[in-house]
Amino acid sequence: MKQYKELSPPPRTIMTPGPVEVDPRVLRALSYPILGQFDPAFTELMNETMEMLRGLFVTDNQWCYPIDGTSRSGLEAVLVSIIEPGDRVLVPIYGRFGHLLTEIAERCGGEVMTLETEWGTVFDPEQVKEAIREFRPAIVAMVHGETSTGCMQPLREIGHFCREQDVLLVVDAVATIGGVPLYVDDWKLDAVIGGTQKCLSVPSGMAPITYNERIERKILARKSIERGLRAPGDEINSRRISSNYFDLAQLQDYWSPARLNHHTEATSMLYGLREGLRILHQEGLEARFERHRQNGAAIVAGVKAMGLELFGGDEHRLPVVTCIEIPAGIDGESVRSMLLDDFGIEIASSFGPLKGRIWRIGSMGYSSSRKNVLHVLGALEATLIYHGMQLPAGAGVQAALAIYAGKEEVVC
Ligand SMILES: *Cc1c(COP(=O)(O)O)cnc(C)c1O
Repeated sequence: MKQYKELSPPPRTIMTPGPVEVDPRVLRALSYPILGQFDPAFTELMNETMEMLRGLFVTDNQWCYPIDGTSRSGLEAVLVSIIEPGDRVLVPIYGRFGHLLTEIAERCGGEVMTLETEWGTVFDPEQVKEAIREFRPAIVAMVHGETSTGCMQPLREIGHFCREQDVLLVVDAVATIGGVPLYVDDWKLDAVIGGTQKCLSVPSGMAPITYNERIERKILARKSIERGLRAPGDEINSRRISSNYFDLAQLQDYWSPARLNHHTEATSMLYGLREGLRILHQEGLEARFERHRQNGAAIVAGVKAMGLELFGGDEHRLPVVTCIEIPAGIDGESVRSMLLDDFGIEIASSFGPLKGRIWRIGSMGYSSSRKNVLHVLGALEATLIYHGMQLPAGAGVQAALAIYAGKEEVVC
């Protein structure tokens, strides 16, 4: 039989919008011995994780727990559990992940109306309010931070308007949670989905979610009477949630004190998430936001000092993803390959209309560090000079150093 080499991932500096580098403390937590899912020692870890998630989402919601699967599983679980065939769903789209929400909402049988704005811009809340008045949706689903365009949508005003109009607001906060301010209760967001492999810096494989009683009421109204317990003659609820794995009515029973069995909780991932949240709360939410803001600002300053153009406006920039226009005459993929092969640094390209047009530098979670920022700026400068660009050598790193020395106003 073929002999396979021992697993030995090359050391990397990961400056993409995910997956990002993981704190060694989280990697250690992933390697601890397995506990049974109903062992009180494990139940305690599940409860602590829910508590720490409430702090992360800044909410008093009872329901804060992870879905087992990547972030998209959290989006799908919330949408399939609340959208009934024929429900009107409004999706304002300003990048790739708005299209994902649209696609999932359509598969759930929603009557979906989309609103689009050019990639690189966000919506004036007034535009969204107008569409709500016109279309009268039951649900609005939108993205907080669009990793594809590096833009961030202000949500507070939209959240308050949805509450006034009795519309449910579902938010994809996968890219922002744990790195950028987001206040679930204060902004009146009804359901929010986060991700682990971005600003939380835990490997990909879980999606922390939260939702309030408004969402819970909609879910429970659709609760299936099936759980292998159906008596002869019992009707199946015609409004029943069409997914078993993503049925939040069943999942919340599993996470409730009743611990009704659903799936087998992903033991090691739960250890990892719990440790990631412990690190986050030790750092402090606001201090963590400030670290992400400062490192984002240093990248922006460095990139501008190199004479490169940023994509998208300054006003709605997502502080954890910096999008850069690939200069004319430069092969974007050749630059990315050189960064990876010679410097061990990964940066990202983009999708759809932005494919081949921009690079994206992430600064999320454990990857959002001064060391990594200076490393990527220095390497990018050297690589661009190698590719024939005329740059003021060293200017990018110096501009970032000035941000860290507090000499330069922080713009991000
Ligand atoms: C990364 C990302 C997702 C998808 O996450 P997966 O973990 O790959 O499923 C969804 N929405 C946004 C905004 C993202 O940045």
